[in-house]
Amino acid sequence: MKGIATSSGIGIGQVFLYKEPEIKVVKQNIEDIDLEINRFEDSVNNTIEEIDKLYKLTLKNIGESEAEIFSAHRMMLEDPEFISGVKDKIKNEKVNSEFAVKEVTDFYVSIFENIEDEYLKARAVDLKDVSKRLLRILMGIKSIDLSTIDKKSIIVAEDLTPSDTAQMNKEMVVGIVTELGGRTSHTSIIARTLEIPAIAGVKDITKLSNFGDSMIINGDTGEILLNPSLEVIGDYEEKTRELADLRDKLLAMKDKESLSKDGHKVEIAGNIGTPKDIDKVLENGGEGVGLYRTEFLYMDRDRLPSEEEQFDAYKIVAEKLGKRPLVIRTLDVGGDKELPYLNLPKEMNPFLGYRAIRLCLDRKDIFKIQLRAILRASAFGNIKIMFPMISDLSEVREAKAIIEEVKMDLRQENIPFDENIEIGIMVEIPAVAIHSRAFAKEVDFFSIGTNDLIQYTLAVDRGNQDIAYLYNQYHPSVLNLIKMTIENGHKEGIWVGMCGEAAGDKKLLPVLLAMGLDEFSMSASLILRARNDLQRYSKGEIRDHLDTLLSLGTSKDVENYIDENILK
Ligand code: PEP
Ligand code: MG
Repeated sequence: MKGIATSSGIGIGQVFLYKEPEIKVVKQNIEDIDLEINRFEDSVNNTIEEIDKLYKLTLKNIGESEAEIFSAHRMMLEDPEFISGVKDKIKNEKVNSEFAVKEVTDFYVSIFENIEDEYLKARAVDLKDVSKRLLRILMGIKSIDLSTIDKKSIIVAEDLTPSDTAQMNKEMVVGIVTELGGRTSHTSIIARTLEIPAIAGVKDITKLSNFGDSMIINGDTGEILLNPSLEVIGDYEEKTRELADLRDKLLAMKDKESLSKDGHKVEIAGNIGTPKDIDKVLENGGEGVGLYRTEFLYMDRDRLPSEEEQFDAYKIVAEKLGKRPLVIRTLDVGGDKELPYLNLPKEMNPFLGYRAIRLCLDRKDIFKIQLRAILRASAFGNIKIMFPMISDLSEVREAKAIIEEVKMDLRQENIPFDENIEIGIMVEIPAVAIHSRAFAKEVDFFSIGTNDLIQYTLAVDRGNQDIAYLYNQYHPSVLNLIKMTIENGHKEGIWVGMCGEAAGDKKLLPVLLAMGLDEFSMSASLILRARNDLQRYSKGEIRDHLDTLLSLGTSKDVENYIDENILK
């Protein structure tokens, strides 16, 4: 079996089949009311215990703001109105606890859902969640919290939500295989951050495998072996050891400069999604952070993060990086990243819709809080601000004007910040790449977001499995846009980086070097290999291939040309 290789490495373990258990509540009449109420109370206590455990785990593994959701869940279970509502129903109607819990939950959920208040609406989601957990415990349905995995396991699931991945025990999860998603989906990005081998887009894998099956996955080739022989397992264990040796060798590159064979220096940085990720970037010798995806601060919770919360998150990373650059990207939600508490209407084409900078310019209240937090944190390190999804120069101007307003406020309040903070944009929409010379005159840097640039250039949804074969970073049009962007940036004297997944692509590394890319920002786990590979290529020599390469007809032609003439 084969899928899309999304996070490098070999995983050998038992299948942990992750499917949401089905909870069907049936009404039953009961005789012994006291017994039923005791059963309900015991289950509430057990549920609180489980929630506390999750709180602690999330706090330890991820962070305080992500853990907060579980304190809110606990509070709901301690709410006297809810508890007495259920007990009264049991007493008055002589029904089983499951039925009473469901009825009372449905009652409150319908109230919350009908209130025109984002915060209370979000409570409905929480309440449903808590009640599901309570019902599961009442009915004795086994929990499938990923935090409870205690054997080396490969998680097999349709897909994982951010809350699922937050609860993963990183010591025990040695692989992830999902039916949905691709290289740039949430699960894949988290897998790479945590350095867990992963494969996505494997149709029907949840039906084809069973709990406890043995499985080997190769996160570099996308191969999956189900119930392999002992001999094959042995071979793969050997391969894993070899990979570990290679890793030791690469570690020697940690504090070296990123230099090509002919002495051209570039910067190799890391992409992060949460403050914790910075540790992996530093362990792997990252020279900075080329993309801090701040949307994770806003996701998986029930309200917007406060200025203080954001300030803390940005400051921690800035301080850890010291003089090294930290590019903070402002909120990039929409598309596949939803914020339920904003109650945004469903769109026909979310990737072309109300998202990222478009949302921020419309919701200046949200935008300004984030900009204040970033600017305040800029007093503690080398922070740069980056806007996502820019398509029109007017957006850049408007966003910069808002920064000026926020700066003015801070000055008035005597709050320190970096007066010369650099402001850049993601180049991820073809319109901007084509017209990049004009944009370059008004910003301090570009960072090419190939994940979206590919999808918009080729009109291929980056998450759609059925057309994934068309989503290709070697497409000559994509490469031409990249080259154009770099050249136009340089003509106007600004630096140009890349933070899309293509920046970490082994085969594109020499091509991007030759095009003059200044900064490569990638998953932490790819940094050392990229720095090591870089030494093999001479910028001057590869430049001679560029004209031929960029005039080739298809993605396959480009890939073959690189294989045969550049990598050799
Ligand atoms: C990109 O589009 O290339 C990018 C880096 O941003 P994201 O993957 O978060 O959309
Ligand atoms: Mg993008």
